[in-house]
Amino acid sequence: MRKRIGVIGGGYAGFAAAVILAAAGRAVTVFEASRTLGGRARRVDAYGTTIDNGAHILLGAYRQTLALLRTVHGAGAEAELLDRRRLALEQPGVFHLRAAALPAPWHLAAALFTMRGVSPRDRLGAIAFARRLARSGYLCEPDLTVAALLVDSPPRVTELLWEPLCLAALNTPIETASAQVFLNVMRLAFARRVQDSDLLIPRVDLSTLFPDAAAAYIADHAGEIRAGETVRSVTAGADGITLVSDFVEHEFAAVVIAVGPHQAVRLLPASADATTRDALQAMTFEPIVTAYLKYPLALPFARPMLKLDGWPGQWAFDRGALGGPEGLAAVVISARTREAGMSNESLAQAIDAQLRRLWPELPTPEWVQVIAERRATYACVAGLTRPSPGMIAPWLYLAGDYTDSQLPATLEAATRSGVAAARALLHRLG
Ligand SMILES: Cc1cc2nc3c(=O)[nH]c(=O)nc-3n(C[C@H](O)[C@H](O)[C@H](O)COP(=O)(O)OP(=O)(O)OC[C@H]3O[C@@H](n4cnc5c(N)ncnc54)[C@H](O)[C@@H]3O)c2cc1C
Repeated sequence: MRKRIGVIGGGYAGFAAAVILAAAGRAVTVFEASRTLGGRARRVDAYGTTIDNGAHILLGAYRQTLALLRTVHGAGAEAELLDRRRLALEQPGVFHLRAAALPAPWHLAAALFTMRGVSPRDRLGAIAFARRLARSGYLCEPDLTVAALLVDSPPRVTELLWEPLCLAALNTPIETASAQVFLNVMRLAFARRVQDSDLLIPRVDLSTLFPDAAAAYIADHAGEIRAGETVRSVTAGADGITLVSDFVEHEFAAVVIAVGPHQAVRLLPASADATTRDALQAMTFEPIVTAYLKYPLALPFARPMLKLDGWPGQWAFDRGALGGPEGLAAVVISARTREAGMSNESLAQAIDAQLRRLWPELPTPEWVQVIAERRATYACVAGLTRPSPGMIAPWLYLAGDYTDSQLPATLEAATRSGVAAARALLHRLG
């Protein structure tokens, strides 16, 4: 009897799907190729301490992710898991913006009106620009790029605010990034509730944050986690799905494929719909590099997350202020930039020099670890067609950050897609 449901991929999308299925009383088996759960948001061990494959931030508007955290950790766990602060962006000595304690959208208008580092005229220009976006309903032509959207924005505000935000949110340069997806993020963060634009920075590693607790929840609900087991092939039959993994053949009533787009294309059975296959094949990717530098003293950062100026680092996080070891900086470089060809060693040296320009008192780091995710996210380019989460062959469902039609590749897109695929499957099962 095929009763169990298989989920391929133990990232945020796969575990979101598995938790919803388990909560509905279905026995689930999750396959994850790696021994560490979390996929592109996972714990990494380095020099006797725990870091992540990349520094992640969440927004207050990540409703689906936050709801799943409550399901697997319990209702009151958010404060232990996440450092929540009102939106504040600071580039030391250059720029500062802080959302006001006012109802949306006035919190954004007040933030733009009081931002430091731009002229009064540019502040008014920025408010007018933001109002135009809101009046348009945050809608534009599907093939418009962020650079084209920003032609009306004061150039200094583009340089200090919108371009860094686009890189951080879409991991795609403004010249090619989708203006509509950028507007979707703006609407999500600024249009409804003031708390939606809060920045939530994990206090725990990214595997602990959700996948490990989700795995425990699934095990408590008659489920099974097969970590370190790669699925090699998927065959869709009329009454269920057969998977062949490294070790054995498995029979399932239904399967959710929740792997990255380049991995999904290899798993699709011949019966999967052609539009999905074409959309997966057309996707390209952008890297993210995170350099961890451990200094022997507490970092002199004014806040846990700072925008950096110059090159090569874009954002710096003080992990010590977020529950990690004292003196541990995480410096992030998003999207393809000129350091792509540099060795890890010279990149770490350049980042160390960049931090010392701002804080000359920093001593030599005790250790550095550079983690380059070559396919951190799909390139969120204007006009991109993406597959939807849901059924792609009888009893075979697709999930993954790239299937959410609204958001760029984010934890929230991943969890939304997993929940959508699981709900579609539950609906069919009746
Ligand atoms: C460095 C970095 C920084 C980021 N920063 C942010 C941020 O600040 N905020 C934010 O919201 N998002 C951020 N993201 C994006 C976010 O991490 C991803 O959108 C999200 O984790 C994708 O989840 P997913 O489950 O869709 O895919 P994945 O995490 O890729 O999960 C797929 C899983 O499937 C497994 N798998 C693949 N093939 C098989 C197979 N055949 N058999 C078994 N298992 C298989 C993989 O090992 C993987 O664990 C960042 C990403 C990176 C890399």
